[in-house]
Amino acid sequence: MPREPIDSHVARGPSTRRGANFHGVAMSIDVLLVECTRCNRRAALGRDDAPIRQGNMDRVAGAKFKCRKCGPVGVRSYIPISQDEVDMFLAGDPLPEARRVV
Ligand SMILES: [Zn+2]
Repeated sequence: MPREPIDSHVARGPSTRRGANFHGVAMSIDVLLVECTRCNRRAALGRDDAPIRQGNMDRVAGAKFKCRKCGPVGVRSYIPISQDEVDMFLAGDPLPEARRVV
């Protein structure tokens, strides 16, 4: 069943993570979760895939991502706080809105 774009039915409420930077990702569990806004492919990015490191104050919202299938695209991104959340996300489950960056 095709999934609807999240923006169509989920209010973009305030998120404590909206201004998050890569330093914040490193301070959590070193994983950034992204979902392609075109094909909804999901991925868990680690330090090898994204500039996740302490002291990198670049905002996640300003970063460019590439989907393996669609090329350069917009993404929805989330900062998980546990491996359980990573597993949930990759399985296709929604994460709490509070984890959402973009
Ligand atoms: Zn895609």
